[in-house]
Amino acid sequence: MEKIIEKYYRPRLPHIWCPGCGNGIVTGAIVKAIDKLGLDQNKTVIVSGIGCSSRASGYLNFDTVHSAHGRALPVATGIKLAEPDLNVIVVTGDGDGTAIGGNHFIHAARRNINLTVILYNNNIYGMTGGQYSPLTPTNNKATTAPYGTVERTFDIAELAKAAGATFVARGTAYHTQMLVDLIAQAISHDGFALVEAITQCPISYGRQNKMGDAPKMLAWQRDHAVTVEAAKKLAPEQLADKFLIGVLHKSEAPEYTKQYDLILAKAQKGAR
Ligand code: SF4
Repeated sequence: MEKIIEKYYRPRLPHIWCPGCGNGIVTGAIVKAIDKLGLDQNKTVIVSGIGCSSRASGYLNFDTVHSAHGRALPVATGIKLAEPDLNVIVVTGDGDGTAIGGNHFIHAARRNINLTVILYNNNIYGMTGGQYSPLTPTNNKATTAPYGTVERTFDIAELAKAAGATFVARGTAYHTQMLVDLIAQAISHDGFALVEAITQCPISYGRQNKMGDAPKMLAWQRDHAVTVEAAKKLAPEQLADKFLIGVLHKSEAPEYTKQYDLILAKAQKGAR
């Protein structure tokens, strides 16, 4: 573990995350997946937007970009187009990635560009004070919804699939080893890959919704997550208050930068 910390983290302690926050667990899973795959650190770029989870890019010892709010995907798309051989990993949150960045998200998925998106889903805007996000469950409280939000929630995995993503998975901070494996599969996938990582925010989300402390929130993840394989043996009513974890969707489609290269070659020949 010491080797991993020395190799992949910048010495920037103390970090900004609250005690009990799951962001460190998800970030650790990304690093372990990178280590497991033996990726070249000099050929791996981490791009983030803005928010609690997006601070991860600043702690990691890679070429990193801590970009603007909701704009991690356009920046990552530019990097991937300029240098298709780089491994480009996007770190984003439910607010950053699905609200202000939602349009970028669906179009990156539609293009099937070979980016790996790790979306830390803590169900709230944590950094800015606990406002509800598109992934805050309906009726849950937020500083902007003190009586509960009336909005319906995105299923970001279904949205990604419908938009054209060719690898979609969901894991949790509780199921850490599975999360490492899912992220490794996502990085290895040739196309747009999403891993939704359910993570606990005991401060901005948990407090307002009386979810208890970090161990209780982790226990909630343990008790409500069902693997895709186990779900096949359960009746719909047994899955009513549960969510699926594992690989939710995998398909093949032309990858954007490869298609773009073909067009460049055609243009260089002057052929239309
Ligand atoms: Fe983590 Fe929530 Fe604190 Fe942000 S506000 S650092 S998500 S616990």
